[in-house]
Amino acid sequence: MRSDPSGPVPPGGAEPADATDPALETLRPGQPTPGAVGRVGPGADEGFADPGEVGRRQRHELWMRRALEVAVTGPAGPDAEPSDVDAVADIPVGAVVYGPDGAELAVGRNERELTGDPTAHAEVLALRRAAERLGRWRLEGCTLVVTLEPCTMCAGAIALARISTVVFGAWEPKTGAVGSLWDVLRDRRASHRPEVYGGVLETENAAVLRAFFR
Ligand SMILES: [Zn+2]
Repeated sequence: MRSDPSGPVPPGGAEPADATDPALETLRPGQPTPGAVGRVGPGADEGFADPGEVGRRQRHELWMRRALEVAVTGPAGPDAEPSDVDAVADIPVGAVVYGPDGAELAVGRNERELTGDPTAHAEVLALRRAAERLGRWRLEGCTLVVTLEPCTMCAGAIALARISTVVFGAWEPKTGAVGSLWDVLRDRRASHRPEVYGGVLETENAAVLRAFFR
């Protein structure tokens, strides 16, 4: 079930498209939003007005700011003790899972160094907690928001969880599996293909990562 009928065009629509093209279905400053220009495929003739697109973009940016907050200050947010986060050397990546109604279900921050767990990526932790909270592994209708383009493991976990929409921040050309190096989520051979919006608040997200590696 979809609460937002103005979902983006499935990759390719009527025409096979290059699924590895990062420009696909992304929202980037200065670029037309998906659907605003040349919309094809299901929904193309439904006359969605710009306010819907703008509203979705604003919601994605709001959600991304929360994910960024988790990345920078940890799940507790600004009230966290700085030592909770600063003491570890984990790359600041934050993820939030939102339910179909837009309510925050769970958050995760990359804890690979903290826990010594190679799979403790922000997305995996947030997915696990969201599933635990809902009492089921299927997260249909949910949106996962993450500050960095997911890797292959996380893209796989997102697909397995049946997440409906993925919103990510900075592109990750070296390991990104949602359009950069691979495109696991929009592979036309995959049975479950979530909607994907990349590059949301890209500048802010990239700045946080750059500051960490400086
Ligand atoms: Zn990952």
